Amino acid sequence: MEIYKQTNPATAVLDKTTPPIGYVHSIETFGSVDGPGIRYVLFLQGCRMRCQFCHNPDTWNTGVGDEMTADQILADAEKYKAFWGKQGGITTSGGEALLQIDFLIDLFKKAHAKGIRTCLDTCGQPFTRQQPWFDKFEELMRYTDISLVDIKQINPREHKRLTGWSNENIFDMLQYMLDHNKHVWIRHVLVPQRTDYDNQLIQIGNYIKTIAPIVDKVEVLPYHTMGVNKYEGLGLKYPLEGIEPPTAARVKNAEHLLHTADYQRYRDYPNYK
Ligand code: SF4
Repeated sequence: MEIYKQTNPATAVLDKTTPPIGYVHSIETFGSVDGPGIRYVLFLQGCRMRCQFCHNPDTWNTGVGDEMTADQILADAEKYKAFWGKQGGITTSGGEALLQIDFLIDLFKKAHAKGIRTCLDTCGQPFTRQQPWFDKFEELMRYTDISLVDIKQINPREHKRLTGWSNENIFDMLQYMLDHNKHVWIRHVLVPQRTDYDNQLIQIGNYIKTIAPIVDKVEVLPYHTMGVNKYEGLGLKYPLEGIEPPTAARVKNAEHLLHTADYQRYRDYPNYK
């Protein structure tokens, strides 16, 4: 049997005779921060970004990790279904989950057929309107209940400096989501000396207002140093050497400038606690 490998996900051709294989970094069975309610969170391998604050550099490589099919994932996930209530379900994160879009389509389609709610956690970097990728993205969106999207920097040049990639296609993805009423949680990682500048935060806050109809929640995620040991283990230089997490006052300031209190629609989800 030929195994489907996504070494070049943008151009890879799926062999329809075999189910897409997901390359899994790790699984969290009781995730409470990656989408609504309690969730089964699948961390997938592979990311092209190189965010200076990344705390999961061990997810960057593609084509490695545990090989699992959607059916195998769902069989495992369903053991925890009783804990999901009316909000929870499955979240795919990473790494960058969209690099394994064929697998995501298979997983989310089968999850929906079982009545399981789906959440896509993405940085949006693989997004393109080029075919055949765009058709796949549209199909994936049909089976996606909510997406968690990072806005890392508003300025494309600064975004490239922080992550290695520009952000125009990420805003294009959010435009697609706005045009098709696909709801999102927006997240911003607050990093002193990198993203914690009032003028940038004000610009991000102003941008979020332009997509407000689909924004159910805005979160400020304070940078932390828990990934430092992973860099050492991988023999990589840590890019944010000497930078400490933001103070509580700066986090509060960012929440104020991003108007997080204005985006509370998630409280209307069924059984919100
Ligand atoms: S997008 Fe996520 S996984 Fe990729 S480098 Fe950035 S923080 Fe790390």
